[in-house]
Amino acid sequence: MIYIIGHKNPDTDSICSAIALTYFLKEKSGWEVKPARAGDINPETKFVLEKFGFPEPELLENADGKQLVLVDHNEKEQIIDGSPKIIEVIDHHKINFSYPEPINFISEAVGSTATIIAEKFFSENMEIPDNIAGILLCSILSDTVIFKSPTTTEKDKKTAEKLNKKLNFDLEKFGKEIKQAGMDLDKPAKELILRDFKEFIFGAKKFGIGQIEIVGIEAFLKERKLEINTAMEQVKQEKGYDCLIFAATDILKEGSEFFIEGQEEKIEKIFNIKLKEKSAWIDGMMSRKKQIIPPLDEYFKS
Ligand code: MG
Ligand code: MG
Ligand code: MG
Repeated sequence: MIYIIGHKNPDTDSICSAIALTYFLKEKSGWEVKPARAGDINPETKFVLEKFGFPEPELLENADGKQLVLVDHNEKEQIIDGSPKIIEVIDHHKINFSYPEPINFISEAVGSTATIIAEKFFSENMEIPDNIAGILLCSILSDTVIFKSPTTTEKDKKTAEKLNKKLNFDLEKFGKEIKQAGMDLDKPAKELILRDFKEFIFGAKKFGIGQIEIVGIEAFLKERKLEINTAMEQVKQEKGYDCLIFAATDILKEGSEFFIEGQEEKIEKIFNIKLKEKSAWIDGMMSRKKQIIPPLDEYFKS
């Protein structure tokens, strides 16, 4: 059995790409494959799976002795724990991967892994069932923040339109519905920080970077800022990070409130901001992958 699995703290792209690729590989090659997940399903993904009638993929706690196809990630820190045999990687993130054997490694600088998976169906002329088209479409809308993220490419937009041909959603409206379902802000601050969360090593420093999407940043900060600051201290300490970053991204205002715990002066310099009570607004900041990680990597590796 080969498991198809996304990153820890899975998002919609990780879960839905795994489900869609499973369908593709079964149809095309008859492989014995199964979608899996490396953590709890977030509220947005729950909405998407229910909408298109898919059950949650099986939770894998440890990958020892298992054969995996990795989707939507390639970095060690984000791969499920254990020592798996990796068969293939399909991803759209920066590459930080090594493996002792030759494997298929598909990497494309597009806005979502789902865009790459959809292309596989198109290029094989394979019929895409409506529910598979639906979850691929949701993944593209989610990962590109309804085409507002700077990671968005023409190919993502074209792929979404193609997937939507039979489904006929108003993409802007449907995208907002997906994002709204995922906000679910009525949770403890710590849970919000860790909801869409990834770990990185930059140089010799260990980073944790979380991100949530919201509408109405002012009201959110007024109500929750102190609580977030306290939770930031706690998470940094518990996990032993050199620096913890939490971006609360307002998808309508198209920017993020940046919370920092640790390495504050360096972060201020890198992003050209002045923190006030541990946070600052950055206009146009939408993408962890494209706008947060590269400058950190660049600065700390030297
Ligand atoms: Mg992802
Ligand atoms: Mg993705
Ligand atoms: Mg994402």
